[in-house]
Amino acid sequence: MTGPLYPDGGVGEKSLGNVRIQPYFLKTPDFYMIGQERMAHDEAVYAYGEYAFFALLWNAIDYAAGLVGHCPQCYSSNDGISEVYNQPSFAQCNLCYGTLFFLPYDPATGFGGVDHLGGLKALIVRPCMWNPTDESQKLTGTGEVITSTSTLQSISDFRMRTADIVLKADGTRWRVATHNTDSIISGFQAANDVRAMVGYNYGQVVRQDESMPCFLIPPTVEQQISLLDTSVIPNYPLSFTNNEYLNCTPAQLIGDDSSNKNFSQPAPIEGN
Ligand SMILES: [Zn+2]
Repeated sequence: MTGPLYPDGGVGEKSLGNVRIQPYFLKTPDFYMIGQERMAHDEAVYAYGEYAFFALLWNAIDYAAGLVGHCPQCYSSNDGISEVYNQPSFAQCNLCYGTLFFLPYDPATGFGGVDHLGGLKALIVRPCMWNPTDESQKLTGTGEVITSTSTLQSISDFRMRTADIVLKADGTRWRVATHNTDSIISGFQAANDVRAMVGYNYGQVVRQDESMPCFLIPPTVEQQISLLDTSVIPNYPLSFTNNEYLNCTPAQLIGDDSSNKNFSQPAPIEGN
């Protein structure tokens, strides 16, 4: 029983066995802290960063959630390889880019299909900051490849997952290998990525060889360079909508993991 009219001041009955420990006050999370920190970081990336394409790939979590189906081209049902090994029958698939997953065209939403890059959850342009290591040569089974790693930061309106691909303005392409996330815990509430995470996109990214399927993702390398390596003049953010694709709702760019799907993100402090 709780309520301000009770003689204990409204706290009411406490949990069994917890009488002397339970406090009288639980602090509300201060979402303005998270909003301000996100805004400061977003501004820094727009001040000192550069543009990149972010290709967000479908993965097994999306398939398990029923968001996407198997690729009709490389996960065919008649060659036996896919069923036995749960792997594509060939790697260089220009529909799913080696992920096995493809979203067929949905007339209700306009999402998916070959023309709308159904093999990707999204292809978006965002600013980001890099600090790549020097390139090094490595001899592999397929020949000599150039490798490099970098950490990467971007803004907070989307979230990369491991194996997502970043298309850099110099024509190179990079795969997200690891994440680490920074959160602000400002009150008593279950904290998760959507509620408390400040830096969405700090990742370790690894440069990919030109023979990898990620080089099948549009645009071409030549277009990638010409679109992204832009002049700063006229000093305002450019629109890339002609080259961007969303095969999910904007909210799903952040919170569609099974652990996050029932949470909503606190509104940004600028109010949109
Ligand atoms: Zn495929």
